[in-house]
Amino acid sequence: MMAQFLELKSQAPDCLLFYRMGDFFELFFDDAKAAAQTLDIALTSRGEHLGEPVPMCGVPVHAAEAYLARLIRGGHKVAIAEQTETPAEAKARGSKSLVARDIVRFVTAGTLTEETLLDAKANNVLVAIACVRGDYALASADISTGQFAIIRIEESGLSAELARLAPGEIIAAPSVGPKSPNWDIRPTQEFDSESGDTLLRAEFSIDSSTFHRSELSAAAGLINYLRHVGRGQTGFLQAPIRHDNSRFLAMDAATRESLEITQSNMGGRALSLLGSIDRTVTGAGARLLAQDLASPLYDKGAIMHRHTAVQWLHGDALLRDTMGEALKAIPDIGRALGRIVAGRGTPRDLGQVRDGLDAARNLRENLSTLHDLPELIQELLPCLDGHGELVDLLFRALVTSPPTERSKGGYIASGYDEALDDLRITSKDARTAIAALEQKYRNETGITALKIKHNAVLGYFIEVPPRHGDALMAEDSGFTHRQTLANAVRFNAGALHEEALRITEAGSRALLAEEAHFEELVAATTKRAKTIAITADALARMDVALSHACCAADNGWVRPELTEGNELAIEAGRHPVVEAALAKQNETFIANHCSLSDSDRVWLISGPNMGGKSTFLRQNALIIILAQAGAFVPAKRATIGLVDRVFSRVGASDNLARGQSTFMVEMVETAAILREASANSFVILDEVGRGTSTYDGLALAWAVVEAVHEINQCRCLFATHYHELTRLAEQLSALSLHHVRAKEWQGDLVLMHELAEGPADRSYGLAVAKLAGVPPPVLTRAKSVLDRLEEGRAATGGLAAGLGDLPLFAAAIEQAPAPAKDTLRERLETLDVDNLSPREALEQLYTLKNLMNS
Ligand code: ATP
Repeated sequence: MMAQFLELKSQAPDCLLFYRMGDFFELFFDDAKAAAQTLDIALTSRGEHLGEPVPMCGVPVHAAEAYLARLIRGGHKVAIAEQTETPAEAKARGSKSLVARDIVRFVTAGTLTEETLLDAKANNVLVAIACVRGDYALASADISTGQFAIIRIEESGLSAELARLAPGEIIAAPSVGPKSPNWDIRPTQEFDSESGDTLLRAEFSIDSSTFHRSELSAAAGLINYLRHVGRGQTGFLQAPIRHDNSRFLAMDAATRESLEITQSNMGGRALSLLGSIDRTVTGAGARLLAQDLASPLYDKGAIMHRHTAVQWLHGDALLRDTMGEALKAIPDIGRALGRIVAGRGTPRDLGQVRDGLDAARNLRENLSTLHDLPELIQELLPCLDGHGELVDLLFRALVTSPPTERSKGGYIASGYDEALDDLRITSKDARTAIAALEQKYRNETGITALKIKHNAVLGYFIEVPPRHGDALMAEDSGFTHRQTLANAVRFNAGALHEEALRITEAGSRALLAEEAHFEELVAATTKRAKTIAITADALARMDVALSHACCAADNGWVRPELTEGNELAIEAGRHPVVEAALAKQNETFIANHCSLSDSDRVWLISGPNMGGKSTFLRQNALIIILAQAGAFVPAKRATIGLVDRVFSRVGASDNLARGQSTFMVEMVETAAILREASANSFVILDEVGRGTSTYDGLALAWAVVEAVHEINQCRCLFATHYHELTRLAEQLSALSLHHVRAKEWQGDLVLMHELAEGPADRSYGLAVAKLAGVPPPVLTRAKSVLDRLEEGRAATGGLAAGLGDLPLFAAAIEQAPAPAKDTLRERLETLDVDNLSPREALEQLYTLKNLMNS
């Protein structure tokens, strides 16, 4: 047995091997140690190998899925080795033969299909990364629903794309390199682009000639891995969709993280944007909503298409209710189909497909009677129908609620197959016959305690209490002794033997007949997989539109207007997550306006800590994301010039896992914004520069605002505590100053969370510290330090502003009359601020300025 185990283990070196022994999956050696630790189960030992006891642990087969789920979540992969013959078959080969076993399947995080192992509301994505001569591509698939996409990217876009897809498992070609310890590097030959070409043509009969070699390589890597994991079967994979990034609003990994779009920083979905707007009533709808938010559109027509459908539902509360009720009752057809196609379907999955398709057909009928259907709904309606034959077949073939368990039968409806019905009648008759026999034996023997029973070892037998045993032992009694136990004696009898045979035979023939029908139904369903998946997608799209409409109706959200311009006019905008959190504490969210345009692109926002700056920045980014994902937005009115990218650099967060300090992270992300933001982008920068010393930080913040204004020319909200920056307003024409309002009242700080024009008069840092409970002596000391610092700061602030003025000076000097021009130029060129103290530099600047004025 150990030899067999080791042979199987050598086929799955990176997996924990579940070795089937009767009713248990056993694990040995290091696998046992790892599993025992993750599962918190007892580690025992058994026998010896090379003189050492063999560590072992096991899980019962009937509860294996729950344990599998924990192992997969714990970062393990599992190989399942099943017995491929019965002990009887093994014995037939020789009395000491070992039962044959083989790995039937690998279970990995990105290739799950089981309902119990998957989150109904989240896609489970496997990503394959390929690189062919410096060209990168990703293939991504959710085999639980068959979605398959291919995308070509720059190497620099890799992390953004992975953040968008949020995969459960990542595999990569060796040419990509082990960029993350969590990536599984697969052999080069699995990423062969030529075999990718053949595979795509063979599996999907599509013309793959338009695909780039890196894309074919990624597709090959993905399909080969799925085949490896499924022991030759890919599972459910639809024809690949080519994801064209230019049609979507782009966001990098840091932006997604800081805006908490699908996951909140506390972890989990509930406190994310997704969690706060999700009113979907089906798993498939929830999954599509998450995809939409992760990939908002950059295509005005397509976005308006979605908005119009939401508006239609928004305008009809009754329709929302009835459609919600209808959708809620529809099972997860997509995932049931995924299991069926992968060969892991159950009778219940077939039942779900049947009920789902039937409900979809009804929904279509009901919706078709309505007038003024928006285009999106009109397009979706035909997708809901067209499976009549299959649905009718499944209705005829299956019982109303088919079981998940296949081996016991009982799922094929009576009336579907006469022969099967006959077998069932026989088996039922025989059962009646056995009951009659029991009565007959009781009468004949006079033993009222006589019973006919059944167990797995003896089959049917007659049982009497020990005191009656002797009476039946007599040779001419017609009974044959089988077994004597402490409290019972068991017998067989000729007639019973015959009846038992009839039952078992009819029973097993009935089971075989059901199995055969099951396979036919699976084949019929699989044949229609492509169109069933389209129906599932259409239902999900309707659910998402309905969710947006309900969310808008419940919270008073509006349809945003989209333009091709560069404006952002949000009237009374709100932050959906913060607003919901405040509502739970019976507090009101203060709505704020934001109006950016070509002539007023950059808002510099100051104000006290806790005043609501970050909230304001984020709410505007979230409103854009919601709008372009197809949703209504939390505002009174919103006009949004289409945004190609959203960037968010909020707060200083360490990324120790990536080995970068707070400030390094801040600068890396800021650099990315300055490099990549276009005039159509929307950028929020929150306290950039705060991760280093005051002067360095101020200088960087200064230069960043200038660059964003002058070079990127994007729409930008910039929150800062550096009051010196407010001087930028004099120099930058499309920059304006704003602040969040606060008041001091009877020595206490009152935060208004209200945005107003102009700079803040002060930071109120000490007042916030007081609010937070910093002890009074520390506050008093801080106040005196602050007073001294402010003296110096006046000088530095002036200097920074003065330096900002230098380009203006230079331009002005060029306009001056000839003699003055030369003198001034010389003064300007010899001005060596770097080697002067701030105060000295400032003095020189003033002198220069006075000279110019004169
Ligand atoms: P800091 O400068 O310390 O980062 P901040 O000005 O960015 O602070 P936020 O983090 O945006 O402040 O907001 C602090 C808290 O104030 C929020 O958690 C929220 O509870 C509340 N708040 C923010 N904006 C509003 C608003 N518009 N209406 C009501 N409450 C708000």
